[in-house]
Amino acid sequence: MTKIISENSEIDKCRRCGTCCKKGGPSLHMEDRELVEGGIIPLKHLFTIRKGEPANDNIRRSIQPADTDIIKIKGQNNTLVCRFFNPEDNICKIYEHRALECRVLKCWDTEEIERIYSKNRLVRKDLISGVAGLWDLVEEHQRRCSYEIIQNFINRDKSDKKTDSMKGLIEIINYDMHFRHLIIDRGGVDPEMLDFLFGRPLADTMRMFGFENNFHRNLHL
Ligand code: SF4
Repeated sequence: MTKIISENSEIDKCRRCGTCCKKGGPSLHMEDRELVEGGIIPLKHLFTIRKGEPANDNIRRSIQPADTDIIKIKGQNNTLVCRFFNPEDNICKIYEHRALECRVLKCWDTEEIERIYSKNRLVRKDLISGVAGLWDLVEEHQRRCSYEIIQNFINRDKSDKKTDSMKGLIEIINYDMHFRHLIIDRGGVDPEMLDFLFGRPLADTMRMFGFENNFHRNLHL
């Protein structure tokens, strides 16, 4: 048995303190698909950590590249606090329909969450591959802006081709940004859907690779 809250070793049942909800929303699994398709968890309340994107692995307690898409519930007001958490009365707004990870998480015993954590993850294709035109856009974006391409440029950045590499990365980040604007302006897509459809903007996630300042100076907005 693994304990997360060792200082509260007497805890043996959920007290609905909200601590786990304040640390970030859950990642979704196939078991949660009906909640999304039934509209209980709308797509606009989700964001995607794309394959290869550095992500906080709560079980291994380290930053690891994601093996697949990881779809998560967004935070609220620019914090990690889950979008469905109501801080005023400390309750989950969808408690009866909360996601699998929320149902199995026991802060006094993490065995069950560890068992399911990286299994049967829900990915974007499960949810939108049947929507005419939309999946094509996701694939087109992925073809130009995958983290595999980003990682290749970063590897080159460590070699003698530093300038070419930086130029290539800036081009991809600009493409990502313009692509998003185009989808909103010409495609009429709700801006709140973008982080689910195309992951978080590269201009933001590049800081995970340690490039925070250089890129924002060089982007052509
Ligand atoms: S969905 Fe509900 S139980 Fe799960 S983290 Fe969000 S507020 Fe908490």
